[in-house]
Amino acid sequence: MPLINKKTFLEFLKCPVKGWMELNNPPKKVISLADKYRMEEGKEIGERARQLFPEGVLLEEKNSFIAEDITKCMFRDQSFNTIYEAAFIDSNFVTRADIIEETKEGLKVYEVKSSKSNTKQIKELIKDIAYTVMVIKSAGYNVNEASLILLSDKYRKGLSEQSLFELYDVFNEAHRFIDEFFSEKEKAVEILGSLEKPEPKFIYECRNCDYFKECFDMDRDKTIFVLHNKHHSQVKRLIEQERYLLKDIDVDELEKDVHRRIYRSLKENKLIVDDKRGLWEKLNNLEYPIGYLDFETVSTALPLYDDLGPYEKLPFQYSLHIKKSPDSPLKHLDYLFFDPSVDESKRLAETLAGDVEGIKTLIAYHDSFEKSVIKNIIERNGYDEQLKSVLTEMIDKFVDLEMLVKEHIYHPDFHGSFSIKKVLPALIPDFSYEGMKIKNGDDACYVFAKMARGDYSELEMEKIRKDLLEYCKLDTLAMVKIHEKLLELCSIF
Ligand code: SF4
Repeated sequence: MPLINKKTFLEFLKCPVKGWMELNNPPKKVISLADKYRMEEGKEIGERARQLFPEGVLLEEKNSFIAEDITKCMFRDQSFNTIYEAAFIDSNFVTRADIIEETKEGLKVYEVKSSKSNTKQIKELIKDIAYTVMVIKSAGYNVNEASLILLSDKYRKGLSEQSLFELYDVFNEAHRFIDEFFSEKEKAVEILGSLEKPEPKFIYECRNCDYFKECFDMDRDKTIFVLHNKHHSQVKRLIEQERYLLKDIDVDELEKDVHRRIYRSLKENKLIVDDKRGLWEKLNNLEYPIGYLDFETVSTALPLYDDLGPYEKLPFQYSLHIKKSPDSPLKHLDYLFFDPSVDESKRLAETLAGDVEGIKTLIAYHDSFEKSVIKNIIERNGYDEQLKSVLTEMIDKFVDLEMLVKEHIYHPDFHGSFSIKKVLPALIPDFSYEGMKIKNGDDACYVFAKMARGDYSELEMEKIRKDLLEYCKLDTLAMVKIHEKLLELCSIF
């Protein structure tokens, strides 16, 4: 059987089928532009973390068995005290340690992560290092320290490597998981090493699992997972009762209007519009001129500009469609950093303040995002009071188009989601993001980050600028179309 690595083992703990698939039949993953950027950035962070241990040596060998032999030799000869990517194998289990230091008391294990030190995912990160420590200990070594190396919130571009990272000793926390992992090892070898795929069990983790189709002969849209944002405890209770399908529950059991609407829409297989009068009143109350606004923001682990911290969000682009009255033609305005190597967010804010002059209502899709971007701009240094007051006034003018859809409408083709990417083609079939070079905000963010880092030629930059402008423009045009569709749907009540 192939060696079990960290990803496989941790997947196995969540679901044995997932672990088995990971080891025996791994999916061919499509790497998006965003994935590619994150991988490159993760690699750079790993390399920079090594500079905290400058005496270390990199073990480049990819073959785990050969790398393990080299690791043993290095420890035996005591030629190196610090190794990057040392390899350890314990019968069926393998691990590579990001950084390992040998001391008289034992090994110090360090795992480098691209997460911030205040991450909510800390438990998952501790599980990662717990697996590494478990394999090293099982391979016969004494481990006396285990630390995570995380990104410091206080870091700003240009500061030293020391200020980029914070070390967290998680030795005790990791040991709580290690005991659990030890007790699962034997079962993992038996199940993962079997030629037969384990029998899938319908569990909470199935809700967003890529293997769903391979595991179950059922349409996910007909299961309880289609009930948008249903509280996980309620979903788990239904699973315990083996009520996996919508048809297993009664509509009266559903407390929320949105869930009842989804239920009816799927049962009748048609678009449902509830409380048309209420929707009409909400839409009729919107004051013109209306601006449809969408920001694209960049947020990278390694900040692109001075004064930005890791993962701090910065708008680099907006698109604004304006309708002066219900029947007037659409006007389009936009802004994209002219020179991505420089932080132009102040210029963007000033241009936006001018562009929204006279607008009475601002429509955004999931407006909490746009509001948070504006609040972040206001909190940044160097903005005059007048600009700040225009931006502050904008916040009260927002109306959330997503909420209007969620509170009144469901179409089977939403597939349990109210994202604009699902809602748009379902309500306006001729209109979709198909064929766009940049398909989502994540891709836009990382393509821009590469522009800012100077990774593209001038010719490529020109092309990408066009793609970014087209993508963001489509986002606000989509809002215009959805708004028009809502007006049409509630015109007769
Ligand atoms: S769909 Fe469910 S049972 Fe199948 S691999 Fe995913 S989590 Fe496991």
